[in-house]
Amino acid sequence: MNKFNQYLNEMGVEAFWYKQNYKSPSDSELKSLQIVVSNCTKCELHKTRNKTVFGDGSESAKILFIGEAPGRDEDKEGKPFVGRAGKLLTEILAAINLERRDVYIANTVKCRPPNNRNPSSEEVNFCADYLEKQIELINPKVIVLLGKVAADRVIKNESSMAELRKRTFFLESKNIPIIVFYHPAYLLRNPVEKRKVWEDLIYLKSILEEYDC
Ligand code: SF4
Repeated sequence: MNKFNQYLNEMGVEAFWYKQNYKSPSDSELKSLQIVVSNCTKCELHKTRNKTVFGDGSESAKILFIGEAPGRDEDKEGKPFVGRAGKLLTEILAAINLERRDVYIANTVKCRPPNNRNPSSEEVNFCADYLEKQIELINPKVIVLLGKVAADRVIKNESSMAELRKRTFFLESKNIPIIVFYHPAYLLRNPVEKRKVWEDLIYLKSILEEYDC
């Protein structure tokens, strides 16, 4: 049994059924995982979602951005970071000459929590296998967590943003540097903090240089 089929079995998806129904030879493992996620009913969030929001961008991206959870616009379109926060993220990337297609963007959970509440730890845990597999398949050089909730859920660090920013963390299982940026939605609510984005981008650049990306 290959690794991906083993993974499907562990996720409770019958590999033979899955192959028969969905997989084509041209599908990448990431796209195959996306199909698994689109059928997921592991937590209560599946009941209220419109579309799952798996992720978007280059499958070989050096930088993986991870936000909290899909919002209303994302749930409608099935894409992460659309709407005003998404536009701001696109502008932040442009400041360092990157386009969205140069990076990969995902969330800690793939379904929208009702009324845009934060995802619970339980929901994040249910969805964690998908994020972990995304990280493994994309194998980025750097992970950027967008906001305190993503930091809390991914690196299990409940410190304030002032303590989280401009520091490097690592996932226990992988030697990938992780840094924390303000969430674009927070910046929209607190425009005075936007000037700190430049400091964050300079820190990201230093990490990319340090790890020879
Ligand atoms: Fe499944 Fe994640 Fe959606 Fe919960 S949030 S139903 S675990 S895809």
